Amino acid sequence: MFPVNILNYFKLILEKTRSLLKEQIKRLNIMPDRGIDRAAMEEEADQEEEFVNQQSAAHTLKERLADIDSSLVNIKKGKYGICSKCGKQISAKILKIAPESKLCQDCKKKAREKTNNR
Ligand SMILES: [Zn+2]
Repeated sequence: MFPVNILNYFKLILEKTRSLLKEQIKRLNIMPDRGIDRAAMEEEADQEEEFVNQQSAAHTLKERLADIDSSLVNIKKGKYGICSKCGKQISAKILKIAPESKLCQDCKKKAREKTNNR
């Protein structure tokens, strides 16, 4: 386990990132302006595409938010920084880059190799 001061440091970063993400998601969820003027069909299609892009961006952010939420829960439970796959301690170096990490360096690498081989 990490010392309390380091845990508090990660907690602070996680909470900060969490509120930032929430704001970004809120902004993305605002529906694009759909006027009653349907004459410009092409423009409509562009808006549709933009909306889909926004939705997928919002989805990515929501996934990250969920990771952050579970990291914050794990801090409370005293299980923060433990790899969800192999149960090893995730190095502080990784957590400093991505405090919501659920996997250790080895498992992350393996997961990445799997994706690349698809
Ligand atoms: Zn692992």
